[in-house]
Amino acid sequence: MPEYTIGVDLGGTNLRAAAMDRSGKLLEKDMESHFSPGREELLTEMVRSVSQLRAKFGSGGLAGIGVGVPGFIAFREGIVRKAPNLAFIENFPIRDEIEKRLGAPVILENDANAAALGEKWMGAGKQVDDLVLFTLGTGIGGGIISGGRVIRGFLGMAGELGHVVIVPNGNPCGCGSQGCTEKHASATAVTAMARLLHLGDNLSAKQVDDLAARNDDTGAKAREIWRVMGESLGALIATMVNTFNFPLYLLSGGVLPAWDRFAPAMLRAVEQRSATYRLSQGATRIEQALLGNEAGIYGAAYLPWIEQRAAHV
Ligand SMILES: [Zn+2]
Repeated sequence: MPEYTIGVDLGGTNLRAAAMDRSGKLLEKDMESHFSPGREELLTEMVRSVSQLRAKFGSGGLAGIGVGVPGFIAFREGIVRKAPNLAFIENFPIRDEIEKRLGAPVILENDANAAALGEKWMGAGKQVDDLVLFTLGTGIGGGIISGGRVIRGFLGMAGELGHVVIVPNGNPCGCGSQGCTEKHASATAVTAMARLLHLGDNLSAKQVDDLAARNDDTGAKAREIWRVMGESLGALIATMVNTFNFPLYLLSGGVLPAWDRFAPAMLRAVEQRSATYRLSQGATRIEQALLGNEAGIYGAAYLPWIEQRAAHV
């Protein structure tokens, strides 16, 4: 039996798992499954899901399991320090518990880091070793890949790009700061701006995108929202270009269908704010990611191949 890994994408109430071989070929994907909020419920569902795949491909060939988690991970300890949607696994040795129950090495990773790694392995970043991925949803997540590896920092919490400040006295953020990019450029920020301009309460990014097509005062206001959103995002990307001088910056997430609305202002802002970008004369690329929702599961499955963490089970 050829070697394979299993990647798990963990959400607040659901998880997906997939078996892949070393070349990134998807061997089998489990249907998305749900669990009731609770540590034991999550563990039971994860063990069931992984075991089912392993039964099919054999335990002898399983090189490891990667799990992408939406939260702050203490990487070396394998512990989730903070996860608003998964509070019941915070500060519990979740990785070791999964390893114990499955008898295979497990690696925990932040979900945006995993998505960035997935894009590097099998998506838009295949041709480069250095990239930044921004996930634009209700918040903004980030993953930084350098030399083909995730940049984690000394705890495992690097890449919190949604909390890079772009407006010193800007909107307050749940993280305790203010003016964080995600308060100005996420789907939530688009919704909030639409409310401020009296376009409607709780409009989705898609609805604001649709409004922007109208040839009236409402359309003009909606287009202005996307301009501000694009400029804010551009300020963040320019900061990343100035910091890393990487060749590739990828965007993914629910806001992406509105690309044509916000990308012109975003690119203008990067051009204006980054001499590094200008001097690269077009070689610095800012593009849409390719794998969408699948990026995280690919990255999770890739982790056991590159992390070589000794199994201690
Ligand atoms: Zn913040």
